Amino acid sequence: MAEVQQPQRVSCRCPQCRVRGLMGPIVLITIGVLFLIGEYSRYNIWDLWPILLIVIGGVLVGQSLVSRQGHIGS
Ligand SMILES: [Zn+2]
Repeated sequence: MAEVQQPQRVSCRCPQCRVRGLMGPIVLITIGVLFLIGEYSRYNIWDLWPILLIVIGGVLVGQSLVSRQGHIGS
């Protein structure tokens, strides 16, 4: 009952799991930005969606580059 400050259940604090935890928010932010660009520029959202793949790929690359030192669990 010592660490009750953390808002979400985080089972592992190693760098790789932290990057993995960022995936969801980064994807959501990217989708939001793409919709904004589609709304306020001459580009269409359907022309921009591959950017999402690039962003997801970038996160996966970053995840593979950071260490698993201190990883707990499976
Ligand atoms: Zn971990």
